[in-house]
Amino acid sequence: MKVLVINSGSSSIKYQLLDANSADVVASGVVQRIGEPVADGSPTIEHKSDGKTFTHDGAVPDHAAGLRLVFDLFTESGHDLADENLGAVGHRVVHGGEVFYEPTLITDEVVRTIADLSSLAPLHNPANVVGIESARGLLPDIPQVAVFDTAFFHHLPDAAKTYAVDAKVAAAHGVRKYGFHGTSHDYVSGQVAKFLGRDRADVNQIVLHLGNGASASAIRGDRAVDTTMGLTPLEGLVMGTRSGDLDPGILFHLIRTADMNVDDVDALLNRNSGIKGLSGVNDFRELGQLIETGDAAAQLAFDVYIHRLRRYIGAYLVELGRVDAITFTAGVGENDAKVRAAALKDLERYGIRVDAARNTAKDRSARRISPDDAEVAVLVVPTNEELAIARAAAALVG
Ligand code: ADP
Repeated sequence: MKVLVINSGSSSIKYQLLDANSADVVASGVVQRIGEPVADGSPTIEHKSDGKTFTHDGAVPDHAAGLRLVFDLFTESGHDLADENLGAVGHRVVHGGEVFYEPTLITDEVVRTIADLSSLAPLHNPANVVGIESARGLLPDIPQVAVFDTAFFHHLPDAAKTYAVDAKVAAAHGVRKYGFHGTSHDYVSGQVAKFLGRDRADVNQIVLHLGNGASASAIRGDRAVDTTMGLTPLEGLVMGTRSGDLDPGILFHLIRTADMNVDDVDALLNRNSGIKGLSGVNDFRELGQLIETGDAAAQLAFDVYIHRLRRYIGAYLVELGRVDAITFTAGVGENDAKVRAAALKDLERYGIRVDAARNTAKDRSARRISPDDAEVAVLVVPTNEELAIARAAAALVG
């Protein structure tokens, strides 16, 4: 079955048309700067299909217009969506709250509930709703499925998901650890079991999803037992632009002494912190270049990032007791050998070793970077959230 997967952000839409069984990608692309003026002449839509790139350069006033233009590009590239035998549209939805923890067929009621959950994800859920509404308007006869980023963590143990705040306040306002990147953690941990040739139920593992956003999870069998992100995607690891964990007292301090309001602090911690806040750049390729020039701030950013990552690896080793695999995934995890080496340095006594030649080998596929005889398999496994969403949607409607 062919599925159109849509990841709708506040000013962008990423999409992919793929075959849920074979994983073959028919076309993929991104719409950017939705609702913004276009000044620099760079394309607002880039659509890739059959090895060619098709672009749109004009302004894109809103999400529905963006999707309509994308459909035109499908036609221009020889894959008219009407002829593609589309079985479903799969939407990535960031926050499912306590309500959604399975792939869900989208109805008016489901859309309303996703919108109601916006207080938990004010940047993401409204943008997801706009993407859903646009796609439903343009493809009224195709079943649409929501796949939630929080779903994989719905069943976290109480001790892991409960914040130690007044229980009545927490219950009244949905305050708990929800976790994010769940589609990736679920997909990658399944791939790990396949790679190891083992039944997933028997594998204890740590997955490190290190992209622009970053999160780690501890997984026992097919259940996540802990994860670093929390009520929002701000908690946990240091990220490209997000601080991750900090003393909540820092917020009060800044509000009281730095003339900042809640929105200022929100912007500071979500957009101007993390690697970017410490070094000025948020991309690990640029960070690596700065470190090579001897830039002390860049080196500190790297060290803080690794320090936080190792803290959680240690925590999850203890939580799981026995760990069979530690896996790196997403942009940084899949590509940055220095991050992988530093994250697992000097852990031989825990059965964790990284083979330097395997770690630096140029290879894009799922691979082992520990020696074959190491007690803990250290792996690099490419994530594929689009495929996971397509398969979830196909399974639901098929
Ligand atoms: P997102 O979280 O937006 O899905 P990705 O998982 O694609 O992001 O990760 C994007 C990040 O991956 C980039 O910001 C960059 O820091 C990092 N990255 C991508 N390629 C490389 C590379 N070759 N070496 C180091 N880091 C890389």
